[in-house]
Amino acid sequence: MTIGKILLYYCFTPIEDPTAIMLWQRSLCEKLGLKGRILISEHGINGTVGGDMDACKRYVRETREYPGFKKMEFKWSEGGAEDFPRLSVKVRDEIVAFGAPGELKVDENGVIGGGVHLKPEEVNKLVEERGEEVVFFDGRNAMEAEIGKFKNAVVPDVRTTHDFIAELESGKYDWMKDKPVVSYCTGGIRCEILSALMKNRGFNEVYQIDGGIVRYGEKYGNDGLWEGSMYVFDKRMHHEFGQGLEDPGFIQLGHCVHCGKGTNTFHNCINEDTCRKQVLICDDCIQHAETQHCGRPDCAEVAAAQAQA
Ligand SMILES: [Zn+2]
Ligand SMILES: [Zn+2]
Repeated sequence: MTIGKILLYYCFTPIEDPTAIMLWQRSLCEKLGLKGRILISEHGINGTVGGDMDACKRYVRETREYPGFKKMEFKWSEGGAEDFPRLSVKVRDEIVAFGAPGELKVDENGVIGGGVHLKPEEVNKLVEERGEEVVFFDGRNAMEAEIGKFKNAVVPDVRTTHDFIAELESGKYDWMKDKPVVSYCTGGIRCEILSALMKNRGFNEVYQIDGGIVRYGEKYGNDGLWEGSMYVFDKRMHHEFGQGLEDPGFIQLGHCVHCGKGTNTFHNCINEDTCRKQVLICDDCIQHAETQHCGRPDCAEVAAAQAQA
């Protein structure tokens, strides 16, 4: 049996001909038997692919042969090709959809005008030095923060990254424009863009965490400024640091929408026709059709009808 791996990576660098890169990456992945999802734009590349260990190693080596990707970091994680339904390699206006392709500027060193990168220990040092003045700003979708976030973080009201610009321009966050603001997201890619958008809108002292929550959590587990679980976009749905759910420092932030019991498991609302919501439902409530909904009245009706059937 061969050992599988998953690679996660991104790189902001000018790409003159995204279509050529897309075709090259597609044939490279096909040749190596990798599956997953790769997005390419004129600002860079963002990918998650899985396959055999040896194939992944070759993929890294060959991908780094493109000058713009030479210094790209790859994060290795457990898994394999079987974790993905197919291979998808696409050209898009943006590698993360903020709806601001014309605003983002990159050069060979990455995003121009983004927040200052902080290593996990530098995040703690900033908080030690500046205390409560420091604001943590969640760069993810609000739902993700329901199960975990930095202590006292501000969680913007966004359903997708597309909502950030309106949110930043709403005036709601003007009070933090002269404070040290630490933006954070899962692996760091969203904050590369978000921190630049914030600086362009008058937030004067913006930081971002190198490697995002992932790297901070690997370093400090549940003994730092992070609280709860980290939402992940694969079938696991959530990840805990340190000793996991049994860790004495672990704080359960998520609660079942029906009974209030602590949980960090998201489920799709039963009303799949008109509601795409993922919602926290505990292990008990998910057993019964009448509580497999998100709480919206029409969804509750669908659930009730299912329970009758
Ligand atoms: Zn419940
Ligand atoms: Zn619903």
